[in-house]
Amino acid sequence: MPESEDRTLLKVERLVKHYPILGGVFLKPVAFVRALDGVSFQMAEGETLGLVGESGCGKSTLGRAILRIEEPTSGSVWFEGENLLELPSERMRRIRKRMQIIFQDPFSSLNPRKTVSQIVGEPLLVHGVHSQKEREDRVMELLELVGLRREHLRRYPHQFSGGQRQRIGVARALALHPKLVVCDEAVSALDVSIQAQVINLLKDLQQMMGLTYLFISHDLGVVEYISDRVAVMYLGKIVEIADKSMLYRTPRHPYTQALLSASPVPDPDSARNRKRILLKGDVPSPIDPPSGCRFHPRCPYAMARCSQEEPPLAPISPGHLAACFLTSENAFST
Ligand code: SF4
Repeated sequence: MPESEDRTLLKVERLVKHYPILGGVFLKPVAFVRALDGVSFQMAEGETLGLVGESGCGKSTLGRAILRIEEPTSGSVWFEGENLLELPSERMRRIRKRMQIIFQDPFSSLNPRKTVSQIVGEPLLVHGVHSQKEREDRVMELLELVGLRREHLRRYPHQFSGGQRQRIGVARALALHPKLVVCDEAVSALDVSIQAQVINLLKDLQQMMGLTYLFISHDLGVVEYISDRVAVMYLGKIVEIADKSMLYRTPRHPYTQALLSASPVPDPDSARNRKRILLKGDVPSPIDPPSGCRFHPRCPYAMARCSQEEPPLAPISPGHLAACFLTSENAFST
């Protein structure tokens, strides 16, 4: 890693992921879906960064591109001092032990024909733990860690509730002692009461094991509860990033303000109970995103300049960055 950022675990620089759309007789690319368009941020060891935005904004693609489940088009991803996008596949396979993902739908991400013992033990087998006894001991340890019991070892995924299945997904993700865990809508498919249990489990495990989470969700309430910092994405770009309390109390980007104004707040006296901001129109297509600031066709504050120039993601106060001309000019407040 170029600078001396001791606690930096992950540094993403100008990450791009474009998917070609093939057409014509020779099936050549005729256009590109610009799912990620120059995303940069970093994460410190042990922190939780929440990643929010409407569906299709690129947040899941970002999680997958970091782990190279989806191969990025360009940019760099520094993890523990190595640029993952330059690593040969064998080295990447080893590093992937330290970076895991928990998916949204625990049912479809668990093989229905395998027992819990096989599912959780699989990463151990793939990474060279050949002794069955050793594997089973570790699986048992992991199941206890996530609140499951010995009798669950020989059961199949369909014999568990949604919350228990997600616990199995968490156990599998932790099998190889990861440093970074991408939680991709990890609690979105669960009932609210079960969501709280799994989130508290994730928090406890983080404390115990020093884990770093990239927590992707469309649920602003859940993200507020679990995150230290929050990044807001719109059409393949980060438009605002800040400490959780700063972002939720004083959102500066008009898109963040609109998102938060639409999110229910349990406390009726909360400062977050601000007037609902209704956005014009739908999210534009990532195949042909608007010029200049991508948010300009929907932004209530848009000026002529906004359709011509792209605002950079720039600091507006320590640790608080936003991509908006008005924040850089300090011309409006919340
Ligand atoms: Fe709105 Fe312009 Fe700011 Fe974009 S740069 S968010 S269009 S005011």
